[in-house]
Amino acid sequence: MDRKSFIKAISLLMASPIVVKAEDAVRELSKAENTEKMPVIFIGHGNPMNALADNAFTKALAAIPKTISKPKAILVVSAHWLTKGTYVSVNKHPKTIYDFGGFPDELFKVKYEPIGAPEIANEIKNTIKTVPVLADEQMGLDHGAWTILKHIYPNADIPTFEFSIDYSKPASYHFELAKQLEFLRSKGVLIVGSGNIVHNLGMVDWKNQNTGYDWAIEFDTTVKNLLNKGDFKPLINYESLGKSAQLSIPTNDHYLPMIYTLGLKTEKEQISYLYESMEMGSLSMRSFIIK
Ligand code: ZN
Repeated sequence: MDRKSFIKAISLLMASPIVVKAEDAVRELSKAENTEKMPVIFIGHGNPMNALADNAFTKALAAIPKTISKPKAILVVSAHWLTKGTYVSVNKHPKTIYDFGGFPDELFKVKYEPIGAPEIANEIKNTIKTVPVLADEQMGLDHGAWTILKHIYPNADIPTFEFSIDYSKPASYHFELAKQLEFLRSKGVLIVGSGNIVHNLGMVDWKNQNTGYDWAIEFDTTVKNLLNKGDFKPLINYESLGKSAQLSIPTNDHYLPMIYTLGLKTEKEQISYLYESMEMGSLSMRSFIIK
């Protein structure tokens, strides 16, 4: 239990002439001592305009907190923070980053600015031994993070920070690196991978919002079947999954966040789907939770 929670619990106990307050204090104590392992989540974030939407996808995001404990911090591995080398954000006050163009002004007015989590970020730096993890003091929250977190935790009251993706490394590297982030799960940190399993912007069909090309549906189904079987090897070696994989992953930036979440799955855990749909021909919105 941290000092703040302890003081809060004690002060509730001291000032408890009525039973209800004592119960509050007990709840506070048990909450603070809760070291239950946090789940891991993969979200297919899709169109940044989802930040402003109220649809089946955003409703599925909003429902997540009802099924999990409130995290102490959130670590996002986003498709939109690609670096040479591996970085973690130690920024105390990450700003909302508008890393896109051509969208309505309304989207540029959205602010999602929880505090950062530099202490936990530094723990990552010190714990990962196989590669140097560098501290980034400037990194804010890119749209892979804020467009979804705005729906999951709209009050922005949970410290949030990002871990970068070294784009020079293969999927197998990321799968192994993810395992070294596992310790965070027992410290109340919710790890969120944010990308898209099928993501081919060059082939987006703006006229057909809720459909997928045959190859996109085929690859999304292949991935689903492999996830259900817990057979991650072909997912790591996705280049060998044929034409539908090539079309679905023209570049692997949106695919790799999923690989991080798979690296964090332990043998006994299950994958359950939070949302599944195809959008604009070449985007899969498939999202899942591992617990
Ligand atoms: Zn994206």
